[in-house]
This record gives sequence, C-alpha cells and structure tokens, in this order.
Amino acid sequence: MKRIAILGSTGSIGGSALEVLRAHPGELSASLLVAGRQAAELARQVREFRPAVAAVAAPAVYAELCGHLGVSESKGSWEGTKLLCGEGEIVAAVREAAADVVLAAIVGMAGLPGVLAALDAGKVLALANKESLVVAGALVLERARRSGSRIIPVDSEHSAIYQVLQGVRSEELASVILTASGGPFRNTPFAEFAAITPERALKHPQWAMGAKITIDSATMMNKALEVIEARWLFDVASERIEVVVHPQSIIHSMVRLRDETVLAQMSLPDMKGPIAYALRHPEARLPRVMRPLDLTAVRELTFQPVDNERFPGISRARACLDGPKGACAVLNAANEVAVAEFLGHRIGFPSINALIGEALEQFGTSSYETVEDLTNLCSSVTEWARGRANEFSRKRA
Ligand code: NDP
Repeated sequence: MKRIAILGSTGSIGGSALEVLRAHPGELSASLLVAGRQAAELARQVREFRPAVAAVAAPAVYAELCGHLGVSESKGSWEGTKLLCGEGEIVAAVREAAADVVLAAIVGMAGLPGVLAALDAGKVLALANKESLVVAGALVLERARRSGSRIIPVDSEHSAIYQVLQGVRSEELASVILTASGGPFRNTPFAEFAAITPERALKHPQWAMGAKITIDSATMMNKALEVIEARWLFDVASERIEVVVHPQSIIHSMVRLRDETVLAQMSLPDMKGPIAYALRHPEARLPRVMRPLDLTAVRELTFQPVDNERFPGISRARACLDGPKGACAVLNAANEVAVAEFLGHRIGFPSINALIGEALEQFGTSSYETVEDLTNLCSSVTEWARGRANEFSRKRA
C-alpha cells in the first residue's frame, strides 16, 4: 500500500488522482489532502478517503470545512482526520506527512512551498505543478539533490519523455520533442484574437483541465512553461528541446536519439495515465488505468511547426532560459497575472502576451539567490503586472 499526499486535491489533477486511488484501494491510499477554497468538496473527500490530515490555508475556508464535517473549529479533527489551517501548517503537514509520494497539484507558484517542503523531507515528488520548476528550477533540483528525493513528472509530455527514457543511456539522448495540441486557436488568424472571450478559450479541443492551464494552452504559454520544465527535469539545454504541434494529442511526447531513432509514447489523452505512473513508479504499472487506445480508430497522426508569430511564448521561454536566473520567474509571474485578468474579463486575449512582453522588458534582467529574493521578485512583478493590466482594462472600457 502506497500512501499519497495530494496537494490540490480539489482540482482537476487532484480529482483524477483520487479516481485512480478509488479504483485501486488495495494499492494506494490518501494520507494528506490539501485544498484551496472548495471546502465542501474537501469535506466530501475527507469522508470518502479518510486521510490522516486535511488542510486549507484560509481561516474562512477552514471554518466552512469544519461546518461541512459537523465539528467545531476548536476540535481540530473529524473522526480519525486531523484538520489544519494556515500556510505554515500546510508546509509542516507536507514535511511530516506519513506519505510515500507527494503529488504536487496546486496551480501556479502558490505550489512552490509544498514542493520544497516535500523535497526537504526527502519524499518522492510526483510533480504536476510545473510553475514551481519554471520559477525556481535550479533551486528545486538543488533541494532534491540535497535530500536524495526523486522527482517523477506528471505533466503528460514530461511523463511520456520520462517513460521512454527508461532504458536509454543519457549519452544516447540527442533531444526531447514536446508535442503540443496547439489549443483551440491553432488555426485562428491573429486578427481574430481580440474577439476571443474567456468562455471560448476555456473550451480545449482535447483535454479537460483547470482554468489556468486551459488558458495557457490557448496562448501556447503552457508549452513555453513546459520547455522550461523539460530543461530542468531532463537536464537538456533549450536548443535540445524541440516542440511540434500534434493536434490529435495521442503521442504525448518523444525523444530523439543520437542515431536518429525517435521513440514516442502514446495513449488516449487522459491524465490518469501519467498520474498513476508517477504514483507507482518504479513499481509495475496498474492495470486498466485508461480506456484502450484503438489504433485502427486513430485515422491520422499529424505534425506541424509552431507559429512563433501568433504564439511568441515558446521563443520567449527559450530566451529566458538563456538569460539571467530570474527571467523565467518573471515570465511565469506575469503570465499568472495576465491569465487571471483575462479570466476576469478585464483584459483581452492578445493582452496576455503583450503584458508578458512588457514585464520581461521591465524585469527580464533580474536575478535571485535565495527563496526570499525570489518571492520578492515575483511579488514585484505581480504588483507591477496588476497595475499595468488595470491600465489595459481602462483603455478597453
Ligand atoms: P485546478 O485549478 O483544477 O486545481 C488547482 C488546485 O490547487 C485546487 O485543488 C485548488 O484548490 C488548489 N489551490 C489553489 N491555490 C491554492 C493555495 N494557495 N493553497 C492550497 N491549494 C490551492 O488546476 P489543475 O488541476 O488543472 O492544475 C494543477 C497543476 O497541474 C498546474 O500547475 C497545472 O499546470 C498542472 N497540470 C495540470 C494538468 C491538467 O490536466 N489539469 C495537466 C498537466 C499539468 P480549490 O479548488 O479548493 O481552490
């Protein structure tokens, strides 16, 4: 029985992970569940999965959680589950969790403290929260190295690469090839971008995911973040990270070997596959995690280059990787603000990339040494970007 701590249990990845646990009760159990605002859903999960600990950051959400479980706030527990509140409590709970694997599935850079806590405690980290590697790749890897923790990617592309690299010697690897669905606006002319609403952008053609990553897919910033993620996970420079648009999302990514063999990993698009792989690895795969892939029903597998004019994120990510240490953090912080402002109907779709470009001009030469410096840099970019988004919004009104 493997005990799993799920950070972000009420989200899309968290929900898929709990589906995997539900289907394999003899193999996997939940020991810690952490959520943001969805108290009712967390209470339901606590009743079903009976983790040792459940935690939320905000006192108001904690009060709601206790209400849904029918216990007083001062009691601090429901049946066998300890209930915790506060950012510090969450970090301590991750460190002390009786967990074999920590699944990091909080969205955005808010996920970084949990990632660092898991690594410091030497836990195996199943990493969905790509933003932590984007913001602090070197720091995250250093923490993993120090404690001897393993990081198993959950992002489908990186999971695919991780899977096909099993049994490949590192000196044989020429490049990694990330596939991208291209999102819903793959073929939309730039002139029509201004009319794109959040509602349209939230309709992803292949994947059902949380709101932030769905918008990232529509702008292809998701692939930009994944280029940075790949640089750290597989220790490859940006010129050894290829990106190709593959609209069917059947091949989740590939590796090119030095003899020009290309190895690919395929399945139907379903995050339960990479999640179950990460939770089990290096043990044998669980049976029937996803629906079978009927190869005769896959009529075509097509590939096309990325249009860097309409989707400048990937070239920006490469430039950030080649730039000073803080540049990737700036890219990420500006994107997080821009996506939230777009989802709130305050800025238009093209303004997401405009805001990121301006943030990089303003802060792109920044560097940092400590986590504190990094947090300060991200706060400055966030504050600046919110102000700039307000100006965009006023012009639009
Ligand atoms: P969702 O928005 O669906 O879920 C995010 C989760 O994080 C929720 O449980 C939310 O809680 C929780 N959360 C947010 N802020 C906080 C906080 N400050 N403290 C504690 N919990 C918090 O996102 P996804 O599941 O789609 O994505 C999660 C991560 O996985 C992202 O980094 C994404 O890029 C990555 N990923 C997602 C994929 C997908 O298919 N969804 C695929 C590959 C990677 P609540 O809802 O209760 O507020």
